[in-house]
Amino acid sequence: MKELSDFSKVLKENGYKFTNQRKYVYEVLMENGGKHLNSQEIYELVKNKYPDIGVATVYRTLTLLEDMELIDGVDFEDGFRRYEVIKGEEEHRHHHLICLECGIIKEMEEDLLENIEDEISCKNHFKVIDHRVKFYGYCSDCLEKRQIREQ
Ligand SMILES: [Zn+2]
Ligand SMILES: [Zn+2]
Repeated sequence: MKELSDFSKVLKENGYKFTNQRKYVYEVLMENGGKHLNSQEIYELVKNKYPDIGVATVYRTLTLLEDMELIDGVDFEDGFRRYEVIKGEEEHRHHHLICLECGIIKEMEEDLLENIEDEISCKNHFKVIDHRVKFYGYCSDCLEKRQIREQ
């Protein structure tokens, strides 16, 4: 989903009106792809463009868009729920690599887990349809700094 016309279509299909507030929130998320903004950061960015918008409206809109699966909310155990637009072409949601030192969140596009899904399905009589994986470690910058410190 890349076009705002698709966005308004999905809203209408779900019985919601296409309002400017909803458009603003979705636009900010589209413009900040890969940044995994939290709700407060999203509110600040929307407010920069449209000072009249209230924080409650932004938070409500995020919940609504998540319910409609237009955006995805992810918790990285840092006390914030972070949001990103769901790209239409993704069969599985991408995985996240989280640096324990600086907190940077990188995205990993390869899936690699389809065989594991088959195995889980077979062994447990459980039909797996999706999965979420987070990898914790150190990004290349932090790794370099750690190596320098250790020398
Ligand atoms: Zn790092
Ligand atoms: Zn992501």
